[in-house]
Amino acid sequence: MTHTALARKYRPTRFGDLIAQEHVAAGLRGAVAKQRVAHAYLLTGPRGVGKTSAARILAMALNCERRGAPEVPDGEPCAACDSCRRIWAGSANLDVVEIDAASNRGVDDARDLRERAMYAASGPERHKVYIIDEAHMLTREAWNALLKILEEPPPRVVFVFATTEPQKIANTAAPVLSRVQRFDFRRLGPQLIADRLRQVVAAEGVAAEDDALVLIARVAAGGMRDALSLLDQALAFGEGAVTAARVRDALGLIADELYAEVLEAIAQRRPETVFPFVARLVEGGADFAEFVNGLGEVLRLLAIRMLGGEPQGITDALRQVVERVAPAFSAGDVLRMLHLLQEAETAIRRNANARLAVETLLLRYALLDRTVELGQVLAALGTGPGAEPAGAAAERAPSRGAPDATPARAVLRDSGAVAGAALSLDAVRQRWDGLCASLAERRPMLAAALGHAQVSEVRGRDVVLVVHDTDVHLPGLEKNRQEIETAMSAAFAAPVRVVFRPAGGDRSPEREGGGGSVRRLDQQSERDQRLRAYRAKDQALDAAAEALDLELLD
Ligand SMILES: [Zn+2]
Repeated sequence: MTHTALARKYRPTRFGDLIAQEHVAAGLRGAVAKQRVAHAYLLTGPRGVGKTSAARILAMALNCERRGAPEVPDGEPCAACDSCRRIWAGSANLDVVEIDAASNRGVDDARDLRERAMYAASGPERHKVYIIDEAHMLTREAWNALLKILEEPPPRVVFVFATTEPQKIANTAAPVLSRVQRFDFRRLGPQLIADRLRQVVAAEGVAAEDDALVLIARVAAGGMRDALSLLDQALAFGEGAVTAARVRDALGLIADELYAEVLEAIAQRRPETVFPFVARLVEGGADFAEFVNGLGEVLRLLAIRMLGGEPQGITDALRQVVERVAPAFSAGDVLRMLHLLQEAETAIRRNANARLAVETLLLRYALLDRTVELGQVLAALGTGPGAEPAGAAAERAPSRGAPDATPARAVLRDSGAVAGAALSLDAVRQRWDGLCASLAERRPMLAAALGHAQVSEVRGRDVVLVVHDTDVHLPGLEKNRQEIETAMSAAFAAPVRVVFRPAGGDRSPEREGGGGSVRRLDQQSERDQRLRAYRAKDQALDAAAEALDLELLD
């Protein structure tokens, strides 16, 4: 017996089978039943949610041999007659033409289409249906040819355009949009997909762990067809019941246990575990983009849980992880972690060194600053050198003297101790050549520019680099500041900030933002300036900043 792909075997055959697309099903079924079918439809939505299936069902319903028979619901195809079966199978058919615009996009095809559309359907009771998949790939010329047909549509000819990117059609062929009836398909939720997978394994007589199906539903990311293909893959991967472990193996997923481990290390603030952990990921052949993606999913669930929601569509294993680590984080922490994660995702997408991006991300997590209200800081320092009652200082702080008066939060940098221990002038100088050498492998130009810089000073987490031939080398170094900082942060397992200072100091001020006319106009230095302004106006805050190495948040 040959194996039929599940995605094909369980493809919907009636409007009523379209999962989560009831609005589309009702609209099309009603049009067929009332004989008010439009000349052109545009079906939009993510991949694998039933657009092409709906188009075929429409073609079946319009050409069904048992249309109107008492056992066939109004507007639905019978799905059993010869015509229905041929259309459903996508086999050669006079009246239903499927065109993949991704591979047929020239003017010639459109002309050809136009000529073919002039032929009527093969019988008086039949409709000619053109199904054009990936319609956003059609050229402007092709659309122009189609527009001419749509302006004077031949009788009983129906065009169904399916696309994942309707915006592109709006850009290339706006006039077409006014001549089509549009249906937007919904992405399927993981629960709906898991429910459907449960039905399918039951119908197939296959044993499967529920967590396995939930995992597949999660990976399918809203597409039913993908979910069924993934189930096929998992079934082909081994014998016996489908377990969550087998799904992970088959799909190359990263085990929830690894996320649990890394989250617990972060919760316990153990930055030293980061490098060995990432090394194990590498040995296990993990894909970093996949890891960061999965980590984002875990954090999202954590955020939902902390905001009092009930995470849906997750495995029991993951639910337990989330429950276990939740008490260690505040909602603010999780939001900041998600924000950092997005930065890392961007870096991984752009940058070859995904490993470093992941290491840096996890280090930043493990060294995560706690978010506190500025008022709390001032209250805690009420007995400090400011010699004002805490409450008064706290009340006054927001309204006094800031360049813009809104920010009222600060961050306690408790990573300072770690940074201080590891980051010293000697330590940086000792490792400087090695750092440049390791950069040279990936970024020879950048390493060469760094050869014109000398480590001159370390202040807190700032590493001051004196740059020679400033005009030549500084622009390049500035441009790559983040990469240099990332490499150094990784090397010292602490956040490092680089300050460039032109050689021959006095005449050209430091490129840091505080002291002179040349300023780093990025957000970081803006925040630093705001903090300085705060500090200048409020002695209590000045003391706090001094004692705790404060950094201002928005
Ligand atoms: Zn039929």
